[in-house]
Amino acid sequence: MSRDLYDLIGLLAAVCFILALKGLSSPKSARRGNLIGALGATIATVIVFFYANNGQALNNQTLILAAIAFGVVVGVPAARKVQMTQMPQLVALFNGVGGGAAALVAIVEYLKLGESASTAVVVATVFTVIVGCISFSGSIVTFLKLQELMTTRPVVFPFGRQIIVLTLIGVVVSGGWVINSGSTTALLINGLLSLLFGVLFVLPVGGADVPIVISLLNAFTGLTVAASGYVLETTLLIVAGTLVGASGTILTRLMAEAMGRSLFGTLFGAFTAKASSDTNQVDTRPVKSGSAEDVAILLNYAQRAVIVPGFGLAVAQAQHTVRELADLLAAKGVEVAYGIHPVAGRMPGHMNVLLAEANVPYEQLVEMEEINPTFPQTDVVLVVGANDVVNPAAKTTPGCPIYGMPILDVALAANVVFLKRSMRPGFAGIENELLYEPKTTLLFGDAKDSLTKVVGALKKL
Ligand code: NDP
Repeated sequence: MSRDLYDLIGLLAAVCFILALKGLSSPKSARRGNLIGALGATIATVIVFFYANNGQALNNQTLILAAIAFGVVVGVPAARKVQMTQMPQLVALFNGVGGGAAALVAIVEYLKLGESASTAVVVATVFTVIVGCISFSGSIVTFLKLQELMTTRPVVFPFGRQIIVLTLIGVVVSGGWVINSGSTTALLINGLLSLLFGVLFVLPVGGADVPIVISLLNAFTGLTVAASGYVLETTLLIVAGTLVGASGTILTRLMAEAMGRSLFGTLFGAFTAKASSDTNQVDTRPVKSGSAEDVAILLNYAQRAVIVPGFGLAVAQAQHTVRELADLLAAKGVEVAYGIHPVAGRMPGHMNVLLAEANVPYEQLVEMEEINPTFPQTDVVLVVGANDVVNPAAKTTPGCPIYGMPILDVALAANVVFLKRSMRPGFAGIENELLYEPKTTLLFGDAKDSLTKVVGALKKL
């Protein structure tokens, strides 16, 4: 194959990646975007495998095919089996492995080039090793936290900041040493210090902020891949890596904004935060609990109802039942909308994906800024497995973990119904005063069971 044709097909794969990102920007086109991205990746893999070696197939084909087979055997079942609620940890794991692989490839290429490596290639190698190793070890820690294989709380230790800063200085100095001397020992030390830095960097981050860090590490992996593309002189890797780096950075910013956080506060907040109050304290104040029939009557006489889905909807897998309820209400002439908070659930777009699975019409999904002004005209808000995203403490309690996060102002509606199993708090671990308000009714139980009962009761009215 001529070089021009090879480059042209590479360009086609790059266009697929860009179209994929465009598609992924809306729930309507996300599935198509995903498929286009997969097509781009397949085209890229095939042309590299058969033609990257000066128009010939790559060497070591058996090894490459064995690696692909291993990836398929491990990756496909993992991706198929994973629960939607565990998606962030899977992304963290895949992402970390990507960063580690890019670092290893750069090291191997560097060892192969030896003395003949230009300064630019050595700089790119050092960059790839540093960022790839940070991304690898940091992602492993985020995986362990989200999988609850270690504590999800911020891990702080004496002189933590100083140790992190000293490690970072070690990373920079050893990187400079590699560039000056070309020493492979220095490269090894540089890699090990970067791995240590990745761990220290993520340990102080608390559970609720971990997905933001995953997104940041994802962006890091993109940059690592772009730099390894420079070392390998592969334009396709540079393009793909840059796209991941740029989109990951935008996503990180959006997530931090949606949670009312600064990125610095997310990463280093644990070292500056004051001791938090005891979140396991049991509140003994009375609450108003109701039956499915009570909730059905409230909804039956409403003119407008808003459903606010949250993490519990995903746990209960109640998306189909919630849609059945919404359809039933619409048939009874009730105006129904879903209020979507940008960080409801455990990953951006979680609720959109879940509700799309149940074919909820996109027009009914209303973003937070748009739905908030409508709550004073809403008769009933049904909060299905959500807590933090409607917790007024985000506005009223300075110093609490979600303070500053914009919320859905459901307290402005005439009636609020919470569907949850117990009085346990949400992800941030803080009490929700709204549960004790006179206008609030609690329907205890698994969201799917409760919704099924409400649907049954409503059909009888
Ligand atoms: P929360 O974690 O605040 O609350 C979930 C609620 O669901 C709990 O009150 C729980 O109560 C209830 N629940 C759990 N399982 C069930 C079930 N089977 N049936 C009924 N109820 C159930 O969720 P939110 O969606 O309100 O908030 C998301 C949180 O995650 C925020 O703190 C956000 O900052 C954080 N986060 C989100 C990210 C994202 O990108 N989406 C990223 C990073 C963090 P009970 O146990 O009593 O049933």
